[in-house]
Amino acid sequence: MVVVFQSLFVLGGLIILILLAFRMKGEKAVINMPENYKELLEDYVQFYRQLDEADKRLFEKRVEKFLIDVKITGVNAEIEEVDRILIAAGAIIPVFIFSDWEYINLQEILLYPGSFNEEFDQAGTDRYIAGMVGTGAMQHKMILTKWQLRQGFINNNDTHNTAIHEFVHLVDKMDGTMDGVPEIILERKYVQQWKNIMDSTIWQMKTYGSDINMYGATSHIEFFAVISEYFFKQPELLKTNHTEVYDMLQRIYRTRD
Ligand SMILES: [Zn+2]
Repeated sequence: MVVVFQSLFVLGGLIILILLAFRMKGEKAVINMPENYKELLEDYVQFYRQLDEADKRLFEKRVEKFLIDVKITGVNAEIEEVDRILIAAGAIIPVFIFSDWEYINLQEILLYPGSFNEEFDQAGTDRYIAGMVGTGAMQHKMILTKWQLRQGFINNNDTHNTAIHEFVHLVDKMDGTMDGVPEIILERKYVQQWKNIMDSTIWQMKTYGSDINMYGATSHIEFFAVISEYFFKQPELLKTNHTEVYDMLQRIYRTRD
């Protein structure tokens, strides 16, 4: 009988320890989230607004996890709650369908107030230096600018979203090479077809001009990032104007009509 009581005592202690561990884990997540983050998502993130209720809850969980995992540091810029939420939204939108996705190639995001011209390692630098994915000494860091970050979500009439652009570079980079071909999510049988579509669309852009941001014509890397901004921001317009590109992006991002 004594042995039974002792066993129950030990078992009870273990259960309490496990419950405490889960509680601590839960508290960490709560501490990191702004109180009104669901409202901020609803107000500013069109992609989130269009999700059904179940997917909205999933999106919120992903945003929470991202903000726990990745450090965001202001450089001469105050980070407001809306900035943290928009950065996380930009990170989750391209990979929302991949439920266990983690940006293992990212540790920290530096947020600048406006465009910057300090002497960074310039590889991977984007138009007007609105954002960049770091290389060399800046490895595992991303730079975003507050003004461009917000414009990307507030202005729904254009095809630009700097945060999505930079996170798509990271998705592209995840297979080891940044080349406009995200082999980690694009089935191998479509790789050549995607390269051909990129080449022909870039040729059309250079020859006839385009509603696609011309920065995308500079390389496959930039084409993939620029066209992904367009895809997530104005999917219907992309479908109408560039059906072949749209179909392939649906394959890459596993979205359906
Ligand atoms: Zn870029």
